[in-house]
Amino acid sequence: MTDLAATLAELARLRSGSEPIVSLYLDIRWNDEQQRERARGFFRERARSILGHYAAGAPGKPALARTLERGQALVEQLTAQTFEADRAGLALFACEGRGLWRPLFFARTFVDELCADGIPHLAQLARLADEERPAIVVVPSLEGADLFEVRLGEVDAEASVRGPVPRSEAEKLNAGAGQPRREYEREAKNERREEAWSRKARQAAAAEVTALFDRTEGARLVLVGTAQMTAAFARELPDRVQAAIVARVPRPPELGSSNGFRRAAIRALAQEVCRGALDGGERDVEAVVGEALRGGLGVVGPEDVVLAVNEGRVYALVVEEDFERHGYQCDNCGTLGSNVESAEICPFCAGDLRAVQNLREALVARTLSAGGRVAVVPRSSKLHSYRGVAAFLRQSAPTGLRGASPPWPTAPGASQS
Ligand SMILES: [Zn+2]
Repeated sequence: MTDLAATLAELARLRSGSEPIVSLYLDIRWNDEQQRERARGFFRERARSILGHYAAGAPGKPALARTLERGQALVEQLTAQTFEADRAGLALFACEGRGLWRPLFFARTFVDELCADGIPHLAQLARLADEERPAIVVVPSLEGADLFEVRLGEVDAEASVRGPVPRSEAEKLNAGAGQPRREYEREAKNERREEAWSRKARQAAAAEVTALFDRTEGARLVLVGTAQMTAAFARELPDRVQAAIVARVPRPPELGSSNGFRRAAIRALAQEVCRGALDGGERDVEAVVGEALRGGLGVVGPEDVVLAVNEGRVYALVVEEDFERHGYQCDNCGTLGSNVESAEICPFCAGDLRAVQNLREALVARTLSAGGRVAVVPRSSKLHSYRGVAAFLRQSAPTGLRGASPPWPTAPGASQS
């Protein structure tokens, strides 16, 4: 399960017919029978309450009941198994009529949630995807660099980049005989040459890192080594890549050891650093509110965010984890509204309006399906004073040029160390 972004985009486009889509999130780190029973009980109770909302003859109810039964069976089956560390959280999206049955397991856990709605509930999954963005760990050396790509807590790929080798190692050692002064000159020359070679090696490695960075959406960069070595390497990177450096850390001793230990060390390092880079969404909130107040590419508050979502202009949605609000959606043109009471028919096409129980999930799905990103942040007083939601906007340029969007603000230029 590495391409979480693609899975999210695909799920975000799903709409139910008469039969709603079931979303389940479960913390499956059960240690004892009591916790297992609590999980089974949670599912049973929620499933009963969901079905209770449907009238006896409602279309889609029998199929929904079967989907929930299948979900219950999955939970029973999981509680019978022993706990595995790489299975801490379960996300399930299911709908019989859509032929949808997608259980996903993660090394990270979720807050228990079971619901049936017209759209899959993706906020928790989107949050995981955003917080666990891939990391590129670079260990520069005089000869080039070692690169590691870490995704969802696993080392996905590693590569070694070496610069061009000096024409002749002998040349370096050939400074034997000669007068002291000439020897000194030759040494100085050799030093300059070595510096030139290692600069070439750094440039080759930097080019490789840049290519990898451009292929890896939302990647963070971690540089490993001495302050001098990492600084020299960073100078060879273009600005956009430099801006994604989240930390420079000293080299852990396990790096020189065999494959398994080395990978474990890299994994631990990436995890520690990227957790440290999470700041409870403060940077996102600061940046989006600042952007909005400056009259730049940002909006705050449900009305303006909904408007931007309707226009497909949201580049990144920033929403509080406990943002709760109803809304409406036009059955005809799909327009979202943030205020149920104020409208009876769609203000754009006069179509029928349907209540949206969970506006947060509607905004998340619409943002993801339009290729935007979602940051779910803890409640903060700053965002809360704008009623818990804000968005970075794309440039409204009709050309749709890429690169017109503001940089994702969670990649600070500042180093952690
Ligand atoms: Zn409409």
